[in-house]
Amino acid sequence: MMNQIKIGAFISERRKAKGWTQSQLAEKLEITDKAISKWETGRSMPDLSLFLPLCTLLDVTLNELFAGECIAEEKWKERADEVLMDVITNWLGHDNREKVHSRESKENDTPPENVLEVENVSKRYENVSTGHETKNNSVLAVNDVSFQIPHGSFVGIMGASGSGKTTLLNLVATIDKPTNGTIRISGQNIVDIPDEAAAEFRRRHLGFVFQEYNLLETLTIYENIALALTIKEVSKESIRPTIQSLSEKLDISAILDKFPYEVSGGQRQRCACARAIVVNPDIILADEPTGALDSHAARQLLDTLAMLCREYGATILMVTHDVMAASYCDRILFMKDGEIKTSLNREQESKQTFFADILKKIEWIEGESHDVLEVVNP
Ligand code: ADP
Ligand code: MG
Repeated sequence: MMNQIKIGAFISERRKAKGWTQSQLAEKLEITDKAISKWETGRSMPDLSLFLPLCTLLDVTLNELFAGECIAEEKWKERADEVLMDVITNWLGHDNREKVHSRESKENDTPPENVLEVENVSKRYENVSTGHETKNNSVLAVNDVSFQIPHGSFVGIMGASGSGKTTLLNLVATIDKPTNGTIRISGQNIVDIPDEAAAEFRRRHLGFVFQEYNLLETLTIYENIALALTIKEVSKESIRPTIQSLSEKLDISAILDKFPYEVSGGQRQRCACARAIVVNPDIILADEPTGALDSHAARQLLDTLAMLCREYGATILMVTHDVMAASYCDRILFMKDGEIKTSLNREQESKQTFFADILKKIEWIEGESHDVLEVVNP
């Protein structure tokens, strides 16, 4: 079992070693003094998003924080995994492993074809304003990126703010055009699509679940979903039963006649999922879909997205900076400075183990950047 009191005492000890009061640490983390006091007395644990900043401030590794003590280097490996697993199981609860089973059963089938193929794609923004003047500055927002997404998989893109995640998603979404490279969706090169045809392509082949601007506010939830269907050759009689059965699955049948502003953020995002999946798109693109949700609604949305893959054969590409959200994916691409630095596959492992692996990768990428900085600025 994770020892919350021990971790609290460790945080307190490290804080004092830095010569900070609780308020000073609170200020650095942009949280309340009360939260720090609660951690230190073992009454609560830091929020997931605060782990890495807290470790950096206190000069400890993630594993030391979880262990509640400094770990000697030679013992690090053996202690690390056992401690990390405890903590993560505490946070995420036990995995139902549903998804892992369904993947096993698929194993004997022929390998799924790729829905998305991205080859040597770059995007350079020219003449970027620097604040005081605009001249020949350019930003290489996406730098020679290649990857494939097989049918039915749930792929995440992680990376710090400014690493190029949204730019990459917009290129796949035909909202923006790459400077170099090819992007194929179900075999069709979308880089060649003229602007006039792009909107039609999006309606027919893509589904969107973004943080904002998801639903039309003047239409009811039902009408929002139905609108998506009217562009497909779907008979009028089949629209209502299709929406009704899908709504039951997504737990939104009770709010179909409400307007988007009358329902919660979580319900709105699940409606966006319904609208995205109902047209049976080649791929669903999601940019920080849980960004504005509380953790309960976020989990419900992530369960919904995972269910769409499992039961509706959806293929999803999701941008997120949240490790909890990423742990629902089958595969994660890690972006930094416009490049995909590394990736991680969730094989047969549980969500918890995957979560731990993601944290380690992030720590590794951050560590790598510190080394680079030291070389550049001696
Ligand atoms: P992320 O979504 O990972 O935060 P973005 O894709 O939004 O990153 O941005 C990547 C880089 O490209 C940043 O340096 C950003 O300032 C730049 N950028 C993004 N959009 C534009 C744009 N329309 N014009 C100029 N620069 C842009
Ligand atoms: Mg972004």
